[in-house]
Amino acid sequence: MTQTSLPFLPFTRPEIDEETIQGVVDVLRSGWITTGPQNQQFEAELSAYFGGRPVRSFNSGTATMEIGLRIAGVGAGDEVITTPMTWVSTSNVILEVGATPVFVDIDPATRNMDLDQLEKAITPRTKALMPVYLSGLPLDMDRLYDIARAHQLRVIEDAAQAFGSTWRGKRIGSFGDIVSFSFHANKNVTTTEGGALVLNNEEEAVIAQKYRLQGITRTGLDGMDCDLLGGKYNLTDVAARVGLGQLRQVERFTEKRRQLARAYFEGFANGAAVKQGVQLPVRNFTDSNWHMFQIALPLERLGVTRAEFMAQLKERGIGTGVHYPALHLFTLYRARGFAEGMFPHAEKYGASTVTLPLFTLMSHDDVARVVRAVDEICEQHGQY
Ligand SMILES: *Cc1c(COP(=O)(O)O)cnc(C)c1O
Repeated sequence: MTQTSLPFLPFTRPEIDEETIQGVVDVLRSGWITTGPQNQQFEAELSAYFGGRPVRSFNSGTATMEIGLRIAGVGAGDEVITTPMTWVSTSNVILEVGATPVFVDIDPATRNMDLDQLEKAITPRTKALMPVYLSGLPLDMDRLYDIARAHQLRVIEDAAQAFGSTWRGKRIGSFGDIVSFSFHANKNVTTTEGGALVLNNEEEAVIAQKYRLQGITRTGLDGMDCDLLGGKYNLTDVAARVGLGQLRQVERFTEKRRQLARAYFEGFANGAAVKQGVQLPVRNFTDSNWHMFQIALPLERLGVTRAEFMAQLKERGIGTGVHYPALHLFTLYRARGFAEGMFPHAEKYGASTVTLPLFTLMSHDDVARVVRAVDEICEQHGQY
């Protein structure tokens, strides 16, 4: 049964309140629209949020990772261990700095990098680790940093999806080595586009600032030098003002997402989808910020492809996404020798995952509607 009368439910949608919109208008009228006072305040509030660690804003969560790698001294000849189950930018930046990405398979339950495999992948050329917290679910952070310390490796955390997540009560970003966040429109906290890098000390912050804007250092009223090859990665004040408005709501955003995730688990319990073998994410209501809610389809038992499954949800007015295809199977990576069979858990999950709608403006009725639709499709196409 199709429910075309209901409004279309996208898989995500940002929530920007009126106070923020007015604040952006004020910035636009202020005469200072690029990096300036709003950025200073944004960085200060982020730093306070992360327990006083130095923070620098950037214009994307890709720039932050690339600069994080450069600050850690990662370059040609170095290996960086990461996961193939991430947005492709995680490994693209490793290539961008001239280093070699080394992938390890995921744990099929958490869908995050398997730390046993990670230990086995360390070689004398390994310089850094780039863990990813898919959908905001952290790794075992104690074990991750034990491994890093034992092998003297730098860690550049791709925490793009983990703003508001915690590990044993500590905020992701408030501890560890270099931590990178994205404020892309779909992330839990957005600046429309943007990112932030949490650093270890002021020296690193100064280097980050140079990389962010052409390697320039200004002194006095008229002094200028360039002593490092930087780029153009600064965040505008318009964007920073959006971030300031978002930051004030982060606790509410996270709480709402957790409630919606709970509603999904309750809705799916013992329904047709779960009986057919649809796999739900790990139930975690303490650490994860529930950036996304991804199911994995039992394609061998369902009489439909993933594309057909997504199309049937779309017919019912429900948007979905795929996060992510296993990235080592992209052409760029196949050309570097990666192929099917190398990371079977990531490949299976990447071929069968569907991201269901989860965003703060959703209601519990919306969740019930999605659950009903997924159960219906599984009922129709499942083979017991
Ligand atoms: C969003 C995202 C990025 C990149 O962030 P941008 O701001 O889009 O450059 C990197 N890694 C992961 C896991 C992401 O989700």
